[in-house]
Amino acid sequence: MKVTRVDVRLVRNTGKSRLRGYFTADFDNVFRVNSGRIIETPDKTFLAMPSKENFRMCKDCGAKISYKAQYCSACGKEQLVNLAAVTYKDVCHALDKTFATEFESAVLAEYNKAKVIASNDNGSNS
Ligand SMILES: [Zn+2]
Repeated sequence: MKVTRVDVRLVRNTGKSRLRGYFTADFDNVFRVNSGRIIETPDKTFLAMPSKENFRMCKDCGAKISYKAQYCSACGKEQLVNLAAVTYKDVCHALDKTFATEFESAVLAEYNKAKVIASNDNGSNS
């Protein structure tokens, strides 16, 4: 399987978040992954695949609710917010390490191109 197209949308670096952009990637022109994230730390830049938040059960009614929820969306009872317990599970990810490396390289190459274009645009405006 080959990465046939990558689009990157940069986000403004406010210094408060490690998120640097979002990507969409096509595979063999037949499969698309949207809403992947590009994360930058002082040590490295890496991809975060689309993910969904893991849920907890309401202690009063058993409904699935977010760890971030102050109130149960089903029964309305107040809940303890526990941001430290919030976890996410990837919706999709590469199973093959060689492909994962090739995929990450393709997206990061587009990310680096987008950064150069953005810095040139900023330079022409000043
Ligand atoms: Zn409830």
